[in-house]
Amino acid sequence: MAKRYRGKSLKKLPSKGRGTCPICGKTRIKLLYPYKREGKQLLNVCKNCRDK
Ligand SMILES: [Zn+2]
Repeated sequence: MAKRYRGKSLKKLPSKGRGTCPICGKTRIKLLYPYKREGKQLLNVCKNCRDK
């Protein structure tokens, strides 16, 4: 797969991969890391939240 967090592929994403992180609430951050909580839907979180 292509790198999803860098370069041109970002521009194909909605809002160029930016948005509000559902975990830390930071706005206009890049949400590049798909994160799945047990039994819940897939969320895209920022780099700060990816490991939590
Ligand atoms: Zn976050």
